Amino acid sequence: MTSDDLAFDRDHIWHPYTSMSEPLPCYPVVGAQGVYLELADGRQLVDGMSSWWAAIHGYNHPRLNQALQQQMAQMSHVMFGGITHPAAVALCRRLVAMTPAPLECVFLADSGSVAVEVAMKMALQYWQARGEKRQRFLTLRRGYHGDTFSAMSVCDPENSMHSLWQGYLPTHLFAPAPQCRFDDAWDEQDIADFAQQIDDHADSIAAVILEPIVQGAGGMRFYHPRYLQAVRALCDRHQILLIADEIATGFGRTGKLFACEHAGIAPDILCVGKALTGGTMTLSATLTTREVANTISNGAAGCFMHGPTFMGNPLACAVADASLALLQEGGWQTQVANIEQQLRATLLPLAAHPQVADARVLGAIGVIESRHPVNLAAIQRFFVERGVWIRPFGKLIYVMPPYVMTPAQLEQLTQAIHAALDRPALFSDA
Ligand SMILES: *Cc1c(COP(=O)(O)O)cnc(C)c1O
Repeated sequence: MTSDDLAFDRDHIWHPYTSMSEPLPCYPVVGAQGVYLELADGRQLVDGMSSWWAAIHGYNHPRLNQALQQQMAQMSHVMFGGITHPAAVALCRRLVAMTPAPLECVFLADSGSVAVEVAMKMALQYWQARGEKRQRFLTLRRGYHGDTFSAMSVCDPENSMHSLWQGYLPTHLFAPAPQCRFDDAWDEQDIADFAQQIDDHADSIAAVILEPIVQGAGGMRFYHPRYLQAVRALCDRHQILLIADEIATGFGRTGKLFACEHAGIAPDILCVGKALTGGTMTLSATLTTREVANTISNGAAGCFMHGPTFMGNPLACAVADASLALLQEGGWQTQVANIEQQLRATLLPLAAHPQVADARVLGAIGVIESRHPVNLAAIQRFFVERGVWIRPFGKLIYVMPPYVMTPAQLEQLTQAIHAALDRPALFSDA
């Protein structure tokens, strides 16, 4: 990439949550192989982010590439209305087999946010079909469910700046973020506020929506499995649907195939995305029970009112099927357990560092919460100079590496974090 390309990028192309008038620098990446990103100047960076939870098997995986090439030679895309194809059937078979038993019906969508829109719409149509007016969602503070409007309406009100959208965004119910940590002794008090709200508003709540066990983009917090069990029990008692957003946690990241397994519960509606295609391209799925699917289908509309143009895209389905096949071979379990052990050994002791407010690890997710927000441009440059790709936000410096990362590569990530903590200039002193 030439400096002219970079200038064009800066002047004309939006990047995620980035100012168009005062953009922070972007690093040109021209290749990716295994756990490495290759910069235009030839430097190789160990990737600690898996391209936002997605590239679990590493980049340029031969099995994923092969699946894409084979599918491309057959057909890249065909509409899903009135048509089906082998790639979609193979993928959905695997999804139904891998996910908790009650989830039998799969809706394929384009992105995580759309999977959440679909899940929320399913809940609304379900109650409409049952002749009950239930249009509110109960969720948790510090949650993140995507950037489209319905998804945003159940994101943490402060993080997602609900104040900007006042009067436009539907107002839902928020319980405090769970306080009891994953490894803490369980404190029944933690669920009290949630239990009160569900009792108070049971007749108007269509569904509870939450991220099971790991609250990701809203703070990288790991909460107690008993909290999730209590939510399931309360939803059962009041016949309220439970939507589990496993877009970040699904497919092994937390040490279980799905984070719901930590609590031994099954949701009524499940959203998956991010790692679904092994990070190759965008695809998501919303799964639900036969009962929800049939109730919707027997309602006034006679069907579920949704159907994206690129629904069931064969290329995306084929590569997702290959990615799930890799997972089903089972190597991820040892890989994630080894990454967890090494992250615990290297990151948890940093809790004693004066710059660190908290250190936590679950599965292949390691989080350092600093006392001061990072100076993003400066810390990003520092990491790149140390040969690693880690992109912090706010006070959170975290890694979620591809499962195939070796101990030496992981060591490079955690040493870079340690080195950054020793440099006050990389943090604001606010
Ligand atoms: C990333 C994410 C989403 C949104 O997915 P997109 O593909 O970015 O639209 C939704 N929920 C959770 C938990 C996520 O981590």
